[in-house]
Amino acid sequence: MCGIVGYTGQLQAAPVLLNGLKHLEYRGYDSAGIAVLNDGAIEMTKTSGKVDALIEKVQEIGGMPGISGIGHTRWATHGVPNEVNAHPHLSQDGRFAIVHNGIIENFAVLRKELEDKGVVFRSETDTEVIVQLLGIYYEGDIKKALLRTVSRLEGSYALGVLSSDEPGTLYAARVASPLIIGIGAGENFFASDITALISHTKNVIDMDDGEIAEITPDRITVFDHAGREIKKEERYVSWDVASAEKNGYDHFMLKEIMEQPASLKAAIEPRIRAGAIVFDELDLDMKKYDRVMITACGSAYHAAVVGKYLIQKLCRIPVDAEVASELRYEDAVIDERTLAIVISQSGETADTIAAMKKCKDAGASVLAIVNVVGSTIAKLADSVIYTWAGPEIAVATTKGYTTQVAVLSMFAVWAAHETGRMDEALFKKMTADIRLIPKLAQRALDLNARVKKLAEKYHDQPSLFFIGRNLDYAVCLEGSLKLKEISYIHSEAYAAGELKHGTIALIEPGRLVVALCCYEELFDKTVSNIQQVKARGADVLAVAPEGNRRIFAEANASLPVPRTDPNLVPVIEIIPLQLFAYYVAKRNGCDIDKPKNLAKSVTVE
Ligand code: GLU
Repeated sequence: MCGIVGYTGQLQAAPVLLNGLKHLEYRGYDSAGIAVLNDGAIEMTKTSGKVDALIEKVQEIGGMPGISGIGHTRWATHGVPNEVNAHPHLSQDGRFAIVHNGIIENFAVLRKELEDKGVVFRSETDTEVIVQLLGIYYEGDIKKALLRTVSRLEGSYALGVLSSDEPGTLYAARVASPLIIGIGAGENFFASDITALISHTKNVIDMDDGEIAEITPDRITVFDHAGREIKKEERYVSWDVASAEKNGYDHFMLKEIMEQPASLKAAIEPRIRAGAIVFDELDLDMKKYDRVMITACGSAYHAAVVGKYLIQKLCRIPVDAEVASELRYEDAVIDERTLAIVISQSGETADTIAAMKKCKDAGASVLAIVNVVGSTIAKLADSVIYTWAGPEIAVATTKGYTTQVAVLSMFAVWAAHETGRMDEALFKKMTADIRLIPKLAQRALDLNARVKKLAEKYHDQPSLFFIGRNLDYAVCLEGSLKLKEISYIHSEAYAAGELKHGTIALIEPGRLVVALCCYEELFDKTVSNIQQVKARGADVLAVAPEGNRRIFAEANASLPVPRTDPNLVPVIEIIPLQLFAYYVAKRNGCDIDKPKNLAKSVTVE
């Protein structure tokens, strides 16, 4: 998920690698390391801190001589961010070092298999199984051993391999994680993206899924999964560093919106086995609880509201969603029969930590849903589900929120099944529908051009409303916040039926009302509310499932989103609203990635 870099040539490798890692820092990371081949032996330096600390460490040992090597910035997914878990990782015989970005979904099975063969693991990472497999399969032909190794892996990976048996040769492989090869003169490179290489070369080869590459200073050979050589096109990259960091997008926020199909896949797929949702990380007896309290702040709180509707509906258990800054000072009824679910992207949100401690002190079991491995909330909780969204750079969350919602949806379905509230057939059906979410998210992103036009039309609204019922309402909260955060336009999220109890007085001709109508059980009710605001002159922009002709006849403008189980609409439905907020903010010239007065991780009360 973070950064990798590799070098083979005539220069000293360590400075090239460290400089490459410096340029990959923008991707976010928690630890770093490099390995260099020196006189036929692999030497390694790692740190749990920043790349600057790694540079200092390398200087302290008088540098690391050698003309080929690999480097890594890690965003921990399996195992806390410490020096042992930092990459590179070594095979037991010390012959191979590897760096890896991504997640190996079947690592537990592979680890067990290798341990049974006598392999002793040094780290807690999923990555280490790759290098240990490579060591076991190696019989004098690295390419062959690597092909066999990757054929065993499920999940996502960009891999770089260094071996003491072939000085000057690097190997690389990829599935579903970014990886390019940089072409130099008498030197070659690989990296997660061009920013790491830009001071050396702008000529690259894009590696595609399932390919492996053998890279020497004067030759690059790419093979398919069966080991057959394939011809690859070279590409000249015209981007400067700033646009390369954003993968060509104007802002990190848009890049992260577009990354959602991949981050949702990372959150969902490892947790589905044989058509059923499995949480290996959970040791919860759901029957023990008679109440669930979900607490969080900001967008994570909006995910909590989705969780409340879903868990309550599917598990038939009372669920509260409470803002953490309130819960921490409230006399809420919490005891040992309460399951407290705390949600935070960073895992460091001060109010959420305080609310969590309060729940713990009252005897509740705490389940944390966080993105950052090893964060304070992850450490203090009784159990943790990681969202595996990867680092989020833009202050306004997008993929952080949707992966939280995806995990909560899976949890609700899993818990309903565990407690006997959901039969096998429905469990399997909902699991299959959840599995489709990343694909549907991709289709929701196809609305991009249409949303952009709507943003152009409505960018100068002084204030607007988001209305919806049930899960649609939960998404209104997040859609409205997104717009406020980055465009500074005032908006209100309203439960559609509540508007008429006062606030409808604010509806006047031309006022935009965004109506969410994907929760089809309550479709007719929302339509009545749409008619009420239209009668007062509002312009209605409806977000509704494709093929729902009725709503599109009622509304002034529409955004048809892919159809899914109505219980799973939030992820799909928020995507056009994220894009809407983005394009309105862009049209109004706002500083999208760093909105005024906001911080990414709110570590103060
Ligand atoms: N899953 C691996 C780990 O936790 C790689 C993480 C990354 O992409 O940086 O070590």
